[in-house]
Amino acid sequence: MHTPDYFYGIDLGGTKIELVACDASLQVRYRQRVPTPTQDYDALVRALVGLIQGADAALTARPPAPLGIGVPGIVDSMTGAHLCANIPCLTGRELLPVLRAQLKRPITLGNDCQCFALSEAHGGAADGAPSMFGLILGTGAGAGYVVDQRLVRGRHGAAGEWGHWPLDPSLLHRYELPLLPCPCGRHACLESYVSGTGLRRLHAHFNGEENISAEQLAIRYRAGEVQAARVFGVHLDLLGAALARIVLAYDPHLIVLGGGLSQLPHLYTELAAAVRPHLIPGLGVPPILPPAFGDAGGARGAALLARQTSHQLEP
Ligand SMILES: [Zn+2]
Repeated sequence: MHTPDYFYGIDLGGTKIELVACDASLQVRYRQRVPTPTQDYDALVRALVGLIQGADAALTARPPAPLGIGVPGIVDSMTGAHLCANIPCLTGRELLPVLRAQLKRPITLGNDCQCFALSEAHGGAADGAPSMFGLILGTGAGAGYVVDQRLVRGRHGAAGEWGHWPLDPSLLHRYELPLLPCPCGRHACLESYVSGTGLRRLHAHFNGEENISAEQLAIRYRAGEVQAARVFGVHLDLLGAALARIVLAYDPHLIVLGGGLSQLPHLYTELAAAVRPHLIPGLGVPPILPPAFGDAGGARGAALLARQTSHQLEP
C-alpha cells in the first residue's frame, strides 16, 4: 500500500472548525479555520467538505489524504451516532456515511479528548511514554488512553469516559452535595463536580455565588480566601478520588491535564497528595503534567488518529 503524503485532522468545536494537514513526519504543512454552523446539519457538512476540498486543492495530495475528525462528546464507533454532542445539529445524526460518500477516502471519528491525548503522546508532554492518560477538565470531563503511542478506543470508542463514572456516594454524603444532573441523562456523574463547570457549581453550592470563572476563583484561593479554599479543598478531594480510580483502572505511566482547569498551577503541586489517600497503600501516583499543545493540539491529534487507523489497514 502506498503511504499517503499527508494525513488530515479536523477539530470540530462548538465555535470553530480547524483543519490541519500533517506530512509523514507529523509536521503541520497546512492549516485552515472556519466558524462552525451549529444549528444547520447540511451547512455543517458543506463546511467540512469545503475545508477538505480546499486542502486537497492546495496540497495536490495523492492518494487522497486519510482524514481524522475529533468531535466533542461520545461517538459510537460501531454506529457512528453522536451522543452528548455540544453541536446541536449533530446530536443523533451521523457524519461518517455522508462524508465518506462525498470525500472518497478513509475517515475516522474520535472525540476531542482522544485527539488531545494522542497529540500529547506524540511530541507533547507524554512523548514516548509507555502509556499515558490525557485527561480533559473543561466544560466537561473526558480522556484518551494511549499505550505505546496508540490510542486505545475500545469497542464503542468509549474507553476513557471516566467523566461519566458515578461520584462515590460516601463523598456525596461527606460534603452534603446535591445530585447534579449530567448531559448524559444520569445524575451525579463525576464531570458534574470536577470539570470547570463542576467547579463553578461547587462554588455556587457552597458560597451561593454564580458566574465566577475558575481563574478568578483560583486567584482568591492563592490569596488565602476561606470560601475559595473550601471549594478547592472539596474539588481536590473529589478529583483525587477520581484519579485514584483511573490509576486502578488504567495504571498510566503519566497523566497529562488538558482543558481550562489545566491552567490552574495548584493542580500540579497539590493534586498528587489528594490522590494518595484514595489509593491502595504503597501504590504510587503517576506524574501529573501540564499539556504541551493543549487545545491547540486537537486537529493535530485528529491527523494522528487518521494515521493510526491508516496503519492498521495496511497488510
Ligand atoms: Zn454523565
